[in-house]
Parts: sequence; structure tokens; C-alpha cells
Amino acid sequence: MAEAVAPFGVSPELSARIFARVHGAGESGFPPGAVRGLPHATAAALDAACSWPALETVERRRAADGFVKYLFRTHDGHEVEAVRIPLPDPAAARELRERRRLGQAGALEPLPAAKYTLCLSSQVGCALGCVFCATGRLGGIRSLKTWEILAQHRAIAAEAEHPIRGVVFMGMGEPLLNYENVIRAARIFSDPAGPAIAAKAISISTAGVLPAIRRYTAEGHHYRLILSLGAPTSAERRLLMPIDDRWPLADVMAAVRDHAATTGVRATLAYVVIGGVNCSRAHARALGELIGPTRVKLNLIDVTDETGQYRRATPDELAAFRDALAELGVPVVRRYSGGADIAAACGTLAATRRGGQDALVPLRAR
Ligand code: SF4
Repeated sequence: MAEAVAPFGVSPELSARIFARVHGAGESGFPPGAVRGLPHATAAALDAACSWPALETVERRRAADGFVKYLFRTHDGHEVEAVRIPLPDPAAARELRERRRLGQAGALEPLPAAKYTLCLSSQVGCALGCVFCATGRLGGIRSLKTWEILAQHRAIAAEAEHPIRGVVFMGMGEPLLNYENVIRAARIFSDPAGPAIAAKAISISTAGVLPAIRRYTAEGHHYRLILSLGAPTSAERRLLMPIDDRWPLADVMAAVRDHAATTGVRATLAYVVIGGVNCSRAHARALGELIGPTRVKLNLIDVTDETGQYRRATPDELAAFRDALAELGVPVVRRYSGGADIAAACGTLAATRRGGQDALVPLRAR
């Protein structure tokens, strides 16, 4: 920002106020008095020089579980999606559990949201073609610019009833194939004068773009890096995630181990669980071998494949898989992939319009 406004004679101190107005308050333009200390003539010159592009909000759909999916249109006619994920206040969650225990709350009473995390897109479509993913079936179209990533947050934040405390780059696209724009957006999201989202509440999920993982580690970022596994061996993984042909799992895991060692933070691995495909006891054993002594957190995510080709694990399959992992000492967290009724679950973002409650009226006005 300082570099951009310096030619207008704006000092670094004033540029910080401009940054706070644009990225913190989400305001556009510089009417008189909008930025303390900014001379009127400079404000007018900035106004004349700036454009304020925005994504068009095509629709919003609210799922039964409170997830809201936004469909945006870019200026060149492409569609991308973002998902607003409600997170409960821990005290409210405890209170609801207690009322359930006492029989004073229905099983379906939803948890009141206290804050949101946003799942944002980094590209239009995705070139990596993971077979279980609807975005991958669209193919790679183009990467989003920094402002197009920020604009997803901006549009959602403008009408959110609760603060946005987290961002995950798990929407459409492979974030590390759009490295510069994703990192620049993350830096702005985490700036205390901007949206002020804690760096550790920003997650960047990759299918395994090896050189970018190495670069990310070398640059010393503090956002959370998540590696999507799909299968515990290259032989099986390449059938699900073609990226394994280019950057084999063993090499990618070595880079993730180095990242964990450098940062001192436990590596986070995401594992899409596909019934009958990658969740046997043998898979658990292979996963244990792959992980070895590395300190990891393993997130299990149920597959959601609308083509019907891949199914979720049955409760018995999943329990056996979890038990086998627990015996091996692998800490497991089962991640809830919500918004399935509006095609907002992991792996289903493909600009479809269906399900849920059409929420065309801005959500805050309801
Ligand atoms: S899972 Fe991620 S990396 Fe794979 S095709 Fe889908 S969006 Fe791309």
C-alpha cells in the first residue's frame, strides 16, 4: 500500500491509515475526512486513480446445518464459490450438550454460531483433477487475483452477523499453484490493521505442489499448511490424485516433515475417506508407516461425490479404520464437511445451484 500511494505524496504513516480503511473497515473511496490527515486534493487524486472492482454475488444458499454457500461471478464471466462455516462459542456448545443430557433440548436444535470461518477459492476450476472432486472435473481455468480472493471475504463480511475469525483455502483450486496471490491475500487477512485474522487461523491446503511447499517453508510463513493425502502409498494415490505422478507422495511427505521440523508445529494431514477404497486396516497400517515418527494431526474427511462413483465409508468401516489408526498412535480428528445439501461440502464446489434455502436477501437483513 505504501508503495502504491507514495507517487501521490502519501507518507507511510498515512498509507497505513488508508490500508486500515480499505482492508480493515472494508470501505471504498476517499470522501473528504475519510482518512485523518489526508489532504483533500490528495484524496481526490487517489479517488480519480482508483477503481474498486468487486465480485458479483450471484446467489447465496443456506444449508440445513447453517453453512452458507456464496456463488460469485468474476468480471470475465467465470463463477467461483465460497462457503461461510458457522462455529459455535465453546460455552454455548457446552450449555447445549448439558441441556440435551437433561432432555431439555431436541436432538436437532442447532448450535448458535458465534463466529465464522470462510472456505475461499483460489482458482477458477482446478487443473489437478483429483477424481473424487467436482472442482477437478471443471479443469483448470485461471487463477484468481489477490483482490478476487479478498473480495470473497469482503462480500461475506459485509453481511455477516458474527465476526470472521478464520480462513481456509480449501475452496476451488489448488492454492499453491496460485502462490503469490494466495500468500498476499493471507498477509492482508492477518494484518492487525486489516481483517486481523490470526495467522494460525488461516489454513492453506495443498494436494502436494512440492516446490511451493519448499518455498513456503523457506519463507517462514505462519499460516497452517495442510497436505491432502488421499491414499497412503503412491501406487494407490496416483489413481485418485494424478498430481502424485509429478510429485510423489514420499517426496512431498519429506517436504512436509521439513516444514514441521522448521516451524515446530505438528504437520496437518487431510485424508478424504472413501468407502471400500482407502480405509481398510491395511490402509491404516500403511498410513502409520508413511507418518512414522513425525508429529502429525490427521483430519479425516468424508468423501462427498455427487456422481455416485465414490461412497462414504459405512459407520463400521470408519470405526475400524479409526481404531486401527488409534492402535498405531496416530491422532485423528474427524472433520465435519458441512453444507452437503447445497453442494458446499469438501470436493463438491462446482458452481452448482441447488438445495437449501435460497438466501437472495442479504443475510444480515433477515
Ligand atoms: S481436491 Fe483440491 S487439488 Fe484436487 S481437484 Fe479438487 S480443488 Fe483441485
